[in-house]
Amino acid sequence: MNIENFNSLKSFTNNLEQQHQLMPVLFVGHGSPMNGIEDNEFSRTWSAMAKQIPVPKAVLVISAHWFTKGTHITAMDFPETIHDFGGFPKELYAVQYPAPGNPLLAKETADMIHSANVDLAHDWGLDHGAWTIIRHMYPEANIPVLQLSIDYTKDAKFHYELAKEIFSLRKKGVLILGSGNIVHNLRMVAWDKLNEPNYGYDWALQMNNTFKELIANDMHDKLIQYQYLGKEAMLAIPTPEHYLPLIYSLGLKEKNDSISFFNDKAVGGSLTMTSVKIG
Ligand code: ZN
Repeated sequence: MNIENFNSLKSFTNNLEQQHQLMPVLFVGHGSPMNGIEDNEFSRTWSAMAKQIPVPKAVLVISAHWFTKGTHITAMDFPETIHDFGGFPKELYAVQYPAPGNPLLAKETADMIHSANVDLAHDWGLDHGAWTIIRHMYPEANIPVLQLSIDYTKDAKFHYELAKEIFSLRKKGVLILGSGNIVHNLRMVAWDKLNEPNYGYDWALQMNNTFKELIANDMHDKLIQYQYLGKEAMLAIPTPEHYLPLIYSLGLKEKNDSISFFNDKAVGGSLTMTSVKIG
């Protein structure tokens, strides 16, 4: 074989490998909306993560902050930046993240899902569960971003199975990102300890470890039935919206995908930022 043939064969196999490469899946603990404008250890890890993984064709976010009746997907050309929080500094409300949407991909994704009639939504945009993270990952806002909502009438098992229906997006180079917090109890936050690094109550740290162990060992049934993990689990997950994005990420895991954790820190006693990279 001459060198020219060898090179074209090499680029052919490289292309094949790229086609077969599965996009990783992320679960990201988003924490305070201020992470959207702060340069801190969490936001720096988000931007480093974007450099570590292949550049996606689009990002599909399952955010704790779009908790709806029924399942919806954003289907507009240009999703607006939603400032869905109160009492923060003006500069946070001034943030715009002008990434385009992708109506065709929205329709294609809706068609993959048979367990729900997915509504193509034009009345949402990018909430802070999405943009506070993505603007650090892709500051040029040149990658389309979509959101898929979480149906609050359904249980964790339903969401786990729904996630499996969109698995093929990983083959198409779409980054699926669950955005919530594994341990998230706002009522119990130690507001005076917010600036103390890695400050977690005993039960929060204990549950964080339990969740990590179950995730690392693919014990998804136990994570789906989190109600049976004891009273600490009830403190960690007083309401399910920040936990369910994790369940989506786990539903998208393939058997051989590796698991790694990042931003594994507690904040204000009763929150953890612990995040997971799958694949
Ligand atoms: Zn949140």
